[in-house]
Amino acid sequence: MKYRRAFFPGSFDPFTKGHEAIVHKGITLFDEIIIGLGTHSKKTPYFDTESRKAHISSLFKDMPVKVIDYSGLTIRACERYECSFILRGLRDTKDFQYERSIAQMNLEMASIETVFLLTDLKNSAINATIVREIHQQGGDINKFVTNAHLLVK
Ligand code: ADP
Repeated sequence: MKYRRAFFPGSFDPFTKGHEAIVHKGITLFDEIIIGLGTHSKKTPYFDTESRKAHISSLFKDMPVKVIDYSGLTIRACERYECSFILRGLRDTKDFQYERSIAQMNLEMASIETVFLLTDLKNSAINATIVREIHQQGGDINKFVTNAHLLVK
């Protein structure tokens, strides 16, 4: 059977337990997952990019999961890493409405199918923006992020 490699793109600033669960579910469907940290030349991330890569890698040791960073179109990164699928997580209808357009446009542009996985009930309220705000205000983010101590601001 054909080797199935999926690309999981996102800002992952930081990579939360919600993202982590999507990768664990995804790896039951795909042979390999490439986690793509999207970067923008004009946008400075909250957590340092290298620390985010090291953080994510620490979560999937001994699994066929790679972490890379990329800029530009996600479909170009998929082509570069030979991924025929994009993996995305869905929390609610708002995620779905936004994701549907992107997925249909990616399909039209590059024949890359997007596979959506629903978040578990326990992770469905976790939102990276709110996690960042908690951290910024000196709160503890360990409930929402595994190995959070590896992240550097
Ligand atoms: P964005 O691309 O909007 O910056 P993120 O980097 O936060 O999104 O997330 C990347 C992917 O993970 C998206 O598909 C998003 O829907 C999904 N995601 C975000 N938070 C969760 C969660 N708590 N549970 C499951 N999926 C999530």
